Amino acid sequence: MDSGIVFNVQRYSLHDGPGIRTTVFLKGCPARCWWCHNPESQTSSPQTAWSQNRCISCDACLLACHEGLQPREACRACGDCAEACPTGARELLGSEMTAEQVLHNILKDRMFFEDSGGGATFSGGEPLCQPAFLKTLLNACRAQGIHTAVDTAALCPTETLLDLAPLVDLFLFDLKCASDTLHHQGTGVGNGLILDNLEQLGRVHRNIWIRIPVVPGFNDTTEEMEALAGLAARAAGVRQVWLLPYHGSWTAKPARLGKESAAEAVAARTPARETMEDFARLFTARGLDTQIGGGA
Ligand code: SF4
Ligand code: SF4
Repeated sequence: MDSGIVFNVQRYSLHDGPGIRTTVFLKGCPARCWWCHNPESQTSSPQTAWSQNRCISCDACLLACHEGLQPREACRACGDCAEACPTGARELLGSEMTAEQVLHNILKDRMFFEDSGGGATFSGGEPLCQPAFLKTLLNACRAQGIHTAVDTAALCPTETLLDLAPLVDLFLFDLKCASDTLHHQGTGVGNGLILDNLEQLGRVHRNIWIRIPVVPGFNDTTEEMEALAGLAARAAGVRQVWLLPYHGSWTAKPARLGKESAAEAVAARTPARETMEDFARLFTARGLDTQIGGGA
């Protein structure tokens, strides 16, 4: 597949693997985590967003819409309204990009990758929802000698994951909780496939970093963290564990998409440093190289 739906290409990323990285966010995800800090990544096709605080009510967007539509009603995501908007209040989130276009963006920072030990990270959404496009991108990076990381919750068929594994230098493997019931409550999907994929991936790949968002009101209990530490310790191929404290800086985003933030997300507070350190000790006690990250 030579093209796919991308919603952002972020240069100079420092939290998506080693060194300075360019992170390519692919659109589409089967989960609906209530703490998702990229809600614009969830649907697989492009969509429009509107920020009330940037809007000056000039109506340029309505005049630009060929369909004569109120934005968001029967919108075909052509982006004309966003292009006409003088303030950036109206945005098109996601667009079709060719692999060549994405690679062109990645190669702009090759020099920084070489100096810092960085590379390209493919994230989302769930990047494995566009497996053929992702494979093309991974092959293109490999041909250029660019280090690759894939940030995934492994919500995909096992064959898809194993097919791509030889092209990936580093997996950033998201684990959310050990309990299937809790996982269902928090994300809308169970974790059976994810845990099975972690086990299968560990048999063939030797560079997996597990990333766990620590989310108040969801998984911030000693019991859950103990269970996650046990899962991480049993899996093969795990080189590091990252605990990522929840932060609510994204909670204005759903309003731009015409949705409400989950009440839990608004109420949740960033876990205290001491809490994060206590949780980290549960992992280091099992011999896991454990870091506390910048946030989830
Ligand atoms: S994206 Fe296109 S169809 Fe949708 S509201 Fe804007 S101009 Fe109209
Ligand atoms: S074009 Fe932009 S600023 Fe003007 S009404 Fe539309 S969203 Fe508001």
